Amino acid sequence: MSLKQECINIINLIIEPLKKDEYDLYEIETDSIRDICELSGEDVTYGECFDCEHYGDCTYKKRVKVDVSFWDYADFQRNYVFAKKPSVSKGICYISNRKRLMDEMSQFKKEIEIYKDYYAEFGEKYSDFMKYAKEFGEKLRQEYSFFENMNTDILPIVFHTDFAKDNEGKTDYETKGNFVSRGKQNMINTYYCMEDIERTKQNIRHELLHYFLYMSDMKYSDDNAIFHYLCGIYDAHAYKEMGEEEQGLYDKLIFVIPELEKKCKELNCKDGAFNANRDVVLIAVGNDREDFSNKELFDYGMKLLNMTVKE
Ligand SMILES: [Zn+2]
Repeated sequence: MSLKQECINIINLIIEPLKKDEYDLYEIETDSIRDICELSGEDVTYGECFDCEHYGDCTYKKRVKVDVSFWDYADFQRNYVFAKKPSVSKGICYISNRKRLMDEMSQFKKEIEIYKDYYAEFGEKYSDFMKYAKEFGEKLRQEYSFFENMNTDILPIVFHTDFAKDNEGKTDYETKGNFVSRGKQNMINTYYCMEDIERTKQNIRHELLHYFLYMSDMKYSDDNAIFHYLCGIYDAHAYKEMGEEEQGLYDKLIFVIPELEKKCKELNCKDGAFNANRDVVLIAVGNDREDFSNKELFDYGMKLLNMTVKE
């Protein structure tokens, strides 16, 4: 029997007992062509690298013919080539003899069993996180008039169990999430979701605020006043310092909005009056005058923002 056939047989033996329900799908392909990212070592045959900065014109993506390719229709992917000399540096297991095959197969068994347990748990958490994201999105949509056209049924969020990767494909322990927009495609990544649930929820709020602002054509960066303000309201960890101008807007904002609320209470304003005024201020802070079509509204918001001066 060839090493390749032996490899297929062993994999089949390993995965058979793991097939517990109809969702446990596995695929063993032979002689397939895969795209391997030499930076991360990941199999990117199905184009899962759209949020990478090299996307489109990538020199790290290598086409490799592999002898045996295993995939569980999720994140567990192993590619085996029966050759002595590696042709790519990462992402492929090269097997040159039977001893090596046995080592690789016991590694495979160990990894897939850990992975299975982990993913059963991840599956549960995934739907909890998604539900949480939708609820938070819905809260934003109902609270702020400028978010009212957002659709919370289709949030483009991906939850990852692992850490983010930097531009060189190295593990990035710092980045806990990001919002990526390329052309008309948007994607929110949240990383390392399984360890600290509260932290993950905070990341979800942080990234959703970026996304909601972006989709509403407002300023959406980490160093914008509007972003800092909303992160403050929802405990969403705005960590990046603002420049002088945005800091100035922010300082006024956190002073004026509670003042507005106080005034509205004193004057016994009708329901919704405070929210309407607050939103106009937020719209002015969250937009650039030149790009904003309703100059009158913008100027009114700025007027409100500058009206109450600290004594
Ligand atoms: Zn951010």
